[in-house]
Amino acid sequence: MKARGWEVVERLRSGETLVFDGGYGTMLFAAGLLNGACPELWNDTHADVVRGIHRAYVDAGSQIVETNTFGGTRLKLDEYRIGDRTRELNAQGARLARAAAPSGGFVAGSIGPTSRLPQDYALDAGVTDEEYETTFREQAEALAEGGVDLFAVETMMFPQEATAAIRACKKVVDLPVMATMFFQYEEIHDRDRTMWGESPADVAKSLLAAGADIVGMNCGRGPDRAIVIIREMRRVTDAPLVAYPNAGLPVTTGDTVTYELGPEAMAREYPALLDAGCNVVGACCGSNPEHIRLIAEVVRSRKK
Ligand SMILES: [Zn+2]
Repeated sequence: MKARGWEVVERLRSGETLVFDGGYGTMLFAAGLLNGACPELWNDTHADVVRGIHRAYVDAGSQIVETNTFGGTRLKLDEYRIGDRTRELNAQGARLARAAAPSGGFVAGSIGPTSRLPQDYALDAGVTDEEYETTFREQAEALAEGGVDLFAVETMMFPQEATAAIRACKKVVDLPVMATMFFQYEEIHDRDRTMWGESPADVAKSLLAAGADIVGMNCGRGPDRAIVIIREMRRVTDAPLVAYPNAGLPVTTGDTVTYELGPEAMAREYPALLDAGCNVVGACCGSNPEHIRLIAEVVRSRKK
């Protein structure tokens, strides 16, 4: 029997639009997470806070909630000298999201970048494809153990790292993989590229070739660029596409960071994002449950 997570892909293929999650960083900082502290550790020390954020997004309309495990690879957790807690913190993250998700909801295991450069780009000893795969495999195993329905490989900067993460998930368990990359808007060329120069079309093709089931963009800038990126991806594939952009650009005042777009301003762009061919929509940095509530309203209002 196929795992329940595959229902996500089937529903998208049959034309349904699903509402993804909102940002966690913003919410955790608001709850007191200090700059430089490890967010994944809160799955243990502040489980109630993490569970509360999941619930708030579920209540707002998220049909797929993400685990608080973005930086949960051993390579990343080693920065905080807690690499030996990799399995525990990821499995616990999955359980917290699972507990908050309603019976019809889905849980996506968040897998973010390691913050370590691939061999080809690093000045010192970079990370090999095998090392990437090993670290992502360990995380994916723990997330699967905790009960995720699918994986969200996200905010990836390097193609090697993204494809290694996708391959790792696929080797661990037969669950769908959603994979998204971080694009920068190059103002002088009026185009969107990954840090290493790949176009949205290149990215869609390479992530799908690596085995991803749903591909797209997250983080980066606001929905205005997400619309353009998704349109370009849609030209080269009929696979399900996902976008969860930031609430516009960050605005720094003193030591507080806010984001340009409030819930209304952000949601206003989502009809065009759906028209561009996007099948899963959510929001990233700077968003909160109110953003998701209005985005979910846009999605609902377009259901025929
Ligand atoms: Zn973001």
